[in-house]
Order: sequence, then structure tokens, then C-alpha cells
Amino acid sequence: NYKNKQDCLSAWERSRNKENIEYGKRTSLPIQAQRESLPVFKMRDLLVDAIRDNQFLVIVGETGSGKTTQITQYLDEEGFSKNGIIGCTQPRRVAAISVAKRVAEEVGCRLGEDVGYTIRFENETSNRTRIKYMTDGMLQQEVLVDPLMSKYSVILLDEAHERTIATDVLFALLKGAAARRPDLRIIVTSATLDAEKFSAYFFNCPVLKIPGRTFPVEVLYSQSPQLDYIETTLDTVMEIHINEGRGDILVFLTGQEEIDTCCEVLYERVKTLGDTIQELLILPVYSALPSEVQSKIFEPTPPNCRKVIFATNIAETSITIDGIFYVVDPGFSKVNTYNPRMGMEQLIISPISQAQANQRKGRAGRTGAGKCYRLYTESAFLNEMMPNTIPEIQRQNLSYTILMLKAMGINDLLNFEFMDPPPRVSMVGALEDLYNLQALDEEGKLSKLGALMSQFPMEPALSKALIASTSRGCSDELSTIISMLSVQSVFYRPRDKQQEADNKKARFHHPYGDHLTLLNVYNRWRDDNFSKTFCVNNYLHERHLKRAKDVKLQLVGLFKKLRLSISNSSGDVDVIRSTLVSGFFRNAAKRESQTGYKTISDGTSVAVHPSSSLFGKDYDYVIYHSLVLTTREYMSFVTAIDPRWLVESAPHYYKVSDGESESRKKAKIVPLHNKFSQNQDSWRLSSLRQTKEK
Ligand code: ADP
Ligand code: MG
Repeated sequence: NYKNKQDCLSAWERSRNKENIEYGKRTSLPIQAQRESLPVFKMRDLLVDAIRDNQFLVIVGETGSGKTTQITQYLDEEGFSKNGIIGCTQPRRVAAISVAKRVAEEVGCRLGEDVGYTIRFENETSNRTRIKYMTDGMLQQEVLVDPLMSKYSVILLDEAHERTIATDVLFALLKGAAARRPDLRIIVTSATLDAEKFSAYFFNCPVLKIPGRTFPVEVLYSQSPQLDYIETTLDTVMEIHINEGRGDILVFLTGQEEIDTCCEVLYERVKTLGDTIQELLILPVYSALPSEVQSKIFEPTPPNCRKVIFATNIAETSITIDGIFYVVDPGFSKVNTYNPRMGMEQLIISPISQAQANQRKGRAGRTGAGKCYRLYTESAFLNEMMPNTIPEIQRQNLSYTILMLKAMGINDLLNFEFMDPPPRVSMVGALEDLYNLQALDEEGKLSKLGALMSQFPMEPALSKALIASTSRGCSDELSTIISMLSVQSVFYRPRDKQQEADNKKARFHHPYGDHLTLLNVYNRWRDDNFSKTFCVNNYLHERHLKRAKDVKLQLVGLFKKLRLSISNSSGDVDVIRSTLVSGFFRNAAKRESQTGYKTISDGTSVAVHPSSSLFGKDYDYVIYHSLVLTTREYMSFVTAIDPRWLVESAPHYYKVSDGESESRKKAKIVPLHNKFSQNQDSWRLSSLRQTKEK
């Protein structure tokens, strides 16, 4: 299957023997020695001085060199935290939690005391917290209320190479804060060599490179394109396990479902082989995983055993696992992509970039010389993969970001200092979106509703529906539904008991669809005192339900803070559904045939997802939460609606078509796109106008 196998093997054997001493050593060192063995430690004084002397600093270093866990501690030890918190952002939730835990352990405190973290709907900090890890999204919310970042002495924008929207927006906002606060320090770290660009952006600030400690990694390409990368992945893992020397395996897959499936299938295969092969420890890593399971990946591999870790791209740079000698890279990741034509986001499994492929490869060379199995051809790598990943801001929906900027009083979006400005079409799309949701007024200015919406850390359609629910008397129900939508699926469907699980799920089904089904699940769990037995008996993920409960608690807290009323409609399904429509009216579809629907706004063919409680039902009008593109375009989380609600909620967006009977059965709802176009010239680009003048 692979090129030069024999050659690689012998080269590999030679290098491995030399590195045997290195393997497994680090993990058994006491914490202090372990800290001092990290590459960043040799640079400690240099770093601290550079941060003292420069307001901006870019730090580049290989993944695992100690940037995230050490630099915050050095600054704390040197007294920077006397003048404010040392904050460190992470693009991913899991990374924020995992490094905070680790650093608390190294500092020797309980998590949430001197060292803590905040992620959306979760705050593990106290008034004595000096080192705070957080998602970049959380810091973005903080700038909204505190543009000067007055609580902080240092802010480390970590993993800047990931170029998330929040990090990109923070670049500009923190540059502004720093201009007004000479004492504030901004550090940007990156695992790749795009550092010069960051430096240029921050007034050509110095770039410090942490010398890496890496070993060569042999790359083995697939000889021909693979049709089923899951199958090939499993074969490759087995091949490595059976034929190769010691060392753990890291496999990159695209998401939770794929990872769970691979773990299960591999487990079965290994089981059938019994004692004929060495023991194989199979571990999954993705963001929805409970932290107990996650910390298992950091534990040293037991002797006479090999670890195989199936991870999402979180293991590319955000977390480092020691002892990996083999990387299996099928070459895909799940990318959230905004489709401006359809005005919606889609999670699409797409080929990774060359930069990502090299980052993945590097994971095999941290502890000794390693091997990287690329399950694609060399020609695909060279000719089909993009050199770099496109920054999120250039491919995602900007509605929430623009709402936030507008709420901060930033109207001149074209002159906003984006490092890489988003395409004009997506800025206009976001403005249109916000106008349709009535977050912006006729002149493109933030409305009162928009200001309120910006306080909710979620997509504008959700905050719109939530706010509407407070005046319509169903905010208790809506906050439950939205909490349930914001967590991983609560339905547990083990491979060997799918039928039974589906039967249990069907008992929760509400005739009007999935949103009310979710409400049913939550309320029945609540009526059973939030019991574990209830979850076990009904094939529900207790952990996901508990998280939904936490999210709901946070939302209720937010209502109180904003003086919005909390009320219950006693399960009035029409009130609840029409309130959902007030946020999701753009996601409406009309039945066209036996199985098919078409979206009303642009006539895209869509179908009800087979997992929906509306699957096989024949309602004429539905709304959906999102579209999932697999073999076809599926609507997920679908609810049947009365079409009149569309016009009631959004008279600026829909009308009852002329020339047709107004009777309810016949009424035809059509989109009314011209209002926005009429306004376009006057204000669509009022936010973008400035450039023309310049
Ligand atoms: P960088 O940010 O440069 O990629 P980190 O500071 O994240 O590096 O990691 C430094 C070292 O700390 C790595 O060797 C990593 O394995 C170890 N480490 C990080 N998090 C944990 C954890 N939760 N448990 C055990 N070790 C960890
Ligand atoms: Mg890091």
C-alpha cells in the first residue's frame, strides 16, 4: 500500500532505537522538572523581558513547546498579575478547559481559584483568579462591555494561526484598547510561520521564536485515491499495530460520529483477534467528550500496550499528546462554511490544507522520529490541497460578529482593521440578515432589539426568538428548547440497540415536530427529578441533558440581568411555535411533493432528516433549525407551522401572494426581497461607504 515501506522500516528501526530513552520519560517526571524540560523554559527570562519592553509581541513555537501552559505562569511569577488578570484565549472550548486544569495542577491550586477558565455558559473563576483561560468568543463578549480590557494586564491571543473570527476581531479591538492603555500587553502566539503577518499588523513588533525539539517524520502516501477513508483508516491502524514497533497512534477524523464509529468498530476487530496481538487502548478525543475521559489521553501508556487516539483537528495544535510515533491522516476536516447564495452555514467535510497536513505530520515527531500515513496521494497533496487554510472570517456567516461590532458603536465596517477583510458579499449578507431580523433599522443602525440581541452569545436568530418569547409569555419553554438545541444530541443510539433506542425516542415525539420533542424530553426528565435512571431507561445522554440544564440556568440568569420576564405558556404549542418562527422565519420550507420540500426564500430542494420526528409526516409548511448536507440537503430540527405566522412575524420579508385565494388552505406565501434592495442604496453600504470617500 505504501511507498518505500522496506526502506522506511529500516530507517525507522534505526532511529527508534536511538530514541528509546526519550520515549516515556517526560510523563514520569515530577511537575517542576517537567516544566523545566520544556523548550520554552530556556527562553524564560528573554520572554519576560521582551514582554516588559514591548506592548506587542509575537511568539512562534512548535506545538508542545510550552507556550500555552508556561508563559502565563512566568508572567504571574514575575508579578504581572499585580496589575490585572493574565488572560489567555483559545479557539476551542476543550483546549481552554484542559490547559486551565493542567496549569492549576502545576501552580498547585484548585481549578477556579488562582487559575481558572470561562467558556460560553460556564465560568470557573473567582475574584482571586490571576491566570484565566477562555475561549476567544468569551473575550470578544467581554470587550463589548469593557472596551479597555481594564481587568487585564496581559492578554495572550493563543493559537492565532487558527484565525477564528473571534481572534481576528480581537486583533483589531485589542489594538484599539492598547492604544489607549500603554500598560496593557498583547501577546500573539502561533504554531506556524505566518508570524510576520501578525508582526506587520501590530506595528512590526518583535517576533520571538522558540527553538523546537522535533524529530524527522517519514511521510507515506497512499498509492491511489481512497474511496472509503474510514475503512482505510481502520486497516492502516491495524497494520501499524500488528507490524510496527512501539509508540502510540494518532488518527485525525472529522467529527464525533466518525470517531465513535471508528472506536467501536476497531474495538470489535481487536476483540476478535484476542490474545494473538498486543493490547490496544482505544481513545476518542473531541470537544463534546466529558473531561474525565479526556484526561485519559494524557496518562502514560501502560507497558506492553499501545494507545490509539481518534481525534478531531483539536489535536493538530490545541492539545499535545506525548508519545505519538504514528499519525494517520485521511486528509479531511469538518469546516463550517457560509454559503452566501443560500444565506446559511453548512458543516462540510472538506480536504484539509497543506499547512494542516504538515501540522498533523509534525505530531508524530515530538518524542522521536515518527511516521505519517497520508491516506491520499502525493499528487493530491501537491496539486489539490490549498497551501493554507482560509481564515474563518472569509468563509463564515458574520451576522453575530457584525451585530457585536455595531453594538460597540463600530459602524464603519469597511475601515475596521481586519487583518484579512471578509468578502464584501458576506458583509452585505450579514447586514441583510440583521435587517431582516430587525436588529438593524431602516438606516442600518442598531435597533433597540439589536442592542438586546447582542447581549446573548448565540446566533442572532436564536436571540431574536428568545427575546420575543419574553413578551409572548413563553420564555421558560423557549429557553429550554434553545438550551437543548445548543448541546450535543441528547439521544443515545448505540449501534447494537438502535431499534430499541429509536422506539424510546419515538415516545417523546411531538406531532408538531422536533422543537417540541426536545421540550418534552427536558420536561419529563425534570418531572423525574432530573434522575439518572430516567436517562438510562430512555436512551438519553445524561451528560448532555445536564449541560442543557446549565445552559438554561445561564439563560434565565441573563433574562434576570436584562430585566426580561420569565414566563410559561403552560405548553401552548401555537404560542411556542409562532415564537420560534419569529427567529427562524427565513428557514421556512413548503412541501412540493410526497417527500420533498423547497425553501420559500430561494427554492432550494430540501428534505426532512430521517431522524426527525416529522419524518414521513405531510405538513405543508415547516421551519428548520439548520441544513445538513450529506447525500442531499436535509433539514434538521423541523417543526410544522401555520404559514400565516411567517407573514405576521416578518411582514417585511414575506407576503401572501397576490391573485390567490386568501383562504388558509390555499394561501401561498412568497418572499418579499425588494424591501432590502430598495434600502440598499441608502444604507446597505452606509457601513461600507467610507472607502469611496477615501
Ligand atoms: P504549546 O502551547 O506550546 O503547544 P503546551 O503549553 O500546551 O504547549 O504544552 C506543554 C506540555 O504540557 C506538553 O508536553 C503537553 O503534553 C503537556 N500538557 C499540556 N496539557 C496537559 C494536560 N492536561 N495533562 C498533562 N500534560 C499536559
Ligand atoms: Mg498551545
